[in-house]
Amino acid sequence: MQINSQTPEYKQNIPLNTLTPIIGTQVIEEWNDTQVVDHDLCIHHMFEMQVERSPQAIAVVFEDIQLTYQQLNKRANQLAHNLRTLGVGPEVLVGICLERSLEMIVGILGILKAGGAYVPLDPAYPPERLAFILSDTQASVLLTQEKLVKNLPPHQAQVVCLDSNWQGNTENNQENPVNQTTADNLVYVIYTSGSTGQPKGVMIPHRGICNQLYWRQTNFRLTQADKVLLTISFSFDPSVWQIFWPLCFGGQLILARPGGQQDTAYLVKVIIDQQITVLALVPSILRVLLEEKGIENCRFLRHITCGGEALPSELIEGFFAKLNLENVFHNCYGPTEASIDTTFWTCQRGTNYTIAPIGRPITNAEIHILDENLQPVPVGESGELYIGGIGLARGYLNRPELTTEKFIFNPFSSEAGARLYKTGDLARYLSDGNVEFLGRIDHQVKIRGFRIELGEIEAVLRQHRSVKEVVVIMREKVQGDKRLVAYLTLKQEQTAKVEQLRRFLQQKLPIYMMPSAFVILKALPMTPNGKIDRHSLPEPTQTRQQAEETFVAPSDETELQLARIWEKVLGIEPISITDNFFDLGGNSLLSIRLFAQVQKAFKKDMPLAILYQNPTIEQLAIILRQLEFSPSLSCLVPIKPNGSKPPLFLCQGFSLYQSLVPYLDSERPVYALISRDGQGMPVRFNGIEELASRYINEIKTLQPEGPYFLGGHSFGGVIAFEMAQQLSAQGQQIALLALFDSYVPGTMKKMSMSKRLSYNLKQFLKMGPAYLLKLCIERLSQKYGNLALKNQFIRTKNLQYLVSQAAYFKLVEEYATKYIPQVYLGRITLLMASDRRFQDEPELGWTKLAGGGLEIHEIPGDHLSIFKEPSIRLMAKKLELSIDERLI
Ligand code: AMP
Repeated sequence: MQINSQTPEYKQNIPLNTLTPIIGTQVIEEWNDTQVVDHDLCIHHMFEMQVERSPQAIAVVFEDIQLTYQQLNKRANQLAHNLRTLGVGPEVLVGICLERSLEMIVGILGILKAGGAYVPLDPAYPPERLAFILSDTQASVLLTQEKLVKNLPPHQAQVVCLDSNWQGNTENNQENPVNQTTADNLVYVIYTSGSTGQPKGVMIPHRGICNQLYWRQTNFRLTQADKVLLTISFSFDPSVWQIFWPLCFGGQLILARPGGQQDTAYLVKVIIDQQITVLALVPSILRVLLEEKGIENCRFLRHITCGGEALPSELIEGFFAKLNLENVFHNCYGPTEASIDTTFWTCQRGTNYTIAPIGRPITNAEIHILDENLQPVPVGESGELYIGGIGLARGYLNRPELTTEKFIFNPFSSEAGARLYKTGDLARYLSDGNVEFLGRIDHQVKIRGFRIELGEIEAVLRQHRSVKEVVVIMREKVQGDKRLVAYLTLKQEQTAKVEQLRRFLQQKLPIYMMPSAFVILKALPMTPNGKIDRHSLPEPTQTRQQAEETFVAPSDETELQLARIWEKVLGIEPISITDNFFDLGGNSLLSIRLFAQVQKAFKKDMPLAILYQNPTIEQLAIILRQLEFSPSLSCLVPIKPNGSKPPLFLCQGFSLYQSLVPYLDSERPVYALISRDGQGMPVRFNGIEELASRYINEIKTLQPEGPYFLGGHSFGGVIAFEMAQQLSAQGQQIALLALFDSYVPGTMKKMSMSKRLSYNLKQFLKMGPAYLLKLCIERLSQKYGNLALKNQFIRTKNLQYLVSQAAYFKLVEEYATKYIPQVYLGRITLLMASDRRFQDEPELGWTKLAGGGLEIHEIPGDHLSIFKEPSIRLMAKKLELSIDERLI
């Protein structure tokens, strides 16, 4: 049995002489005695049983939207009936390409309730990978979101957009559909890295997942008070228990925002704010999370699992040092092919292990550690780990040979047809029956929990026309910092730049499979028997691999200090101030580490998004210099600071914009611009022009150069308009100027008495007596605010908001009378409410100011209700479409 270069050095954790060699196969049989009655249920039936038990309890929460069990069930039923009409039933594979959202949960349940099996497609995957999965599964139906449709590769499936076109003809059918699906039918097909250059689809039936969920519930008992945080992408199987354990046993499923799993500051905040009790992490994320401010306050946690890669004991000690929680932290082990987790070990303090054991098998699972002749090895000796039991996958989709190779006859079982899965993991039994993970016997690696076949990266690189030979390995110079390095030789006469190779791979592989470094060699080192000698591959030279001409040295102290931090974090020298952090191998974990050091060195608190927007030393230095002169970012308030797309800056508001964020592209950062003092009172400027100029200074601290995406509601739109004018005059490009029901100052005139009456009557008929109450409250609040503004003796702290609103409206009136808007040469997107309260010009006055064209969308609702369901959906959609159009 060959141990590869990735095999960790920790296999001598416990000296073998402390183990009892006489422990024989009989004892091992006892350790494998895990059988209990199998529940024989489908997952959607388990969910339906829970809906019966707690229809009104909260089932799922995403940001500030939540659904009860009954509401979620009804929505999923509607979808399921619709999917039935499209031919979905047992063994039918349905693609689902959605970001983490309520729709994603409705979509998965809808597919299962229709009887089908889901195939998760991460929207962040490159189109070529999505195309492969769609064609391999021959999915006839694909659930997605409108904004993702345009990024999908060509495919044969019928598209159902969960945010628009599926409710149609089955709107009223909210009953549980009856289907013929049994526990042996497929529940999902999840793709995992494949060594031949293409991923492979693992087919999992309901039975294994049902077993997994009952094992969890029996051992760790979830209650209605529990909140489970879904952090992982649904294209990896731990997401399955994170979704269905709460949904099948009455807990709450809380969805972390897309991308949130990599932002440990966000995770800590969510865990504390939402009082999360159940959490799952990979060790590399746990390492960073434990360093996060406020981690000690995550006291509600009562079940934490780590898995996906080896868990070093020093991390367990770190956990206990920060979170003094006994018996809640578990190391779970299991490959996708065995329905999530197969073994587990409850972490303990002060053990002799260097790496946590992976423990013992869960219910209805068997573990065998065998030699090359499939004979059990004695306790204490290493062998390959094989898994048996009801969790085993049916096999790999469309890969019968591979299925036969990996799923073999089980010689230890008396059950007809029983199989074993050959994991490729090297392990040994400890004398107490726990299993110790020792590494891999092949070239599969784990980086930040992602399973990667090095052969898959090699096969894809070999497709590049310049590449002759290639070998990819994983290196771990500093503990916990695992990186992929690709070594290549080129065909004669070919010169490929590292940059080109990187772009080539980005088209084909997910981001987590990208090598951090590419080393071009004259020849690969060989062993005497003609194989590539992986052990002799040189360390990447730690020097940047771009051409010398592109190197730009630091020009001042700020850049120099940044360069030193970058070199330390990336382990590369020297770094040009124009090099992109992510192209040099920077990943999400390294970016957290880098930013922590930058913040410490410069004593500045900045959102991580700044690095994503400004990934070079040169850009980051500009931001830092600006912060020196304007230490307060008080006007610029992050609503959603993370995301890889350009940020959207929205003027004069916060909560309305906050409600818009869940409907926008999850990769789009959103910032509000507000000018209030410490008491919440509006800050006075010398007119709109000065206010806009202040806002421009602030957004430039985050994004020094255009194209800019600006917007604003009501008067905020007028400020955004003025900002666009000033930025254009500075030669900056404005990609979007979106006005949400904004009027050109001076065009808003009171309606005649008769029009006002008819407007009020219409609203009354729509809303009933609640409308009158709303009017009264509005009037009274206005009156109180105006009075309290003049006479501070009647002010009360509780009503301070009304005073600040009154002051704000007064200021707006003052600004508006002074402002003389000029024609703007760019294009304006106007999102106009259909219900108007004022007499105004047809397009709210913008036609004559929009020199570059006016794009109008009428949104059902009034000035404020356009930010509520269902109008907000439409508005967000129109906004995204406008942004996309400008980007083409
Ligand atoms: P996946 O199919 O992505 O779940 O990856 C399964 C592989 O991850 C296993 O075969 C192991 O190599 C590794 N793995 C999973 N959990 C653990 C763990 N707790 N300790 C060590 N390795 C693990």
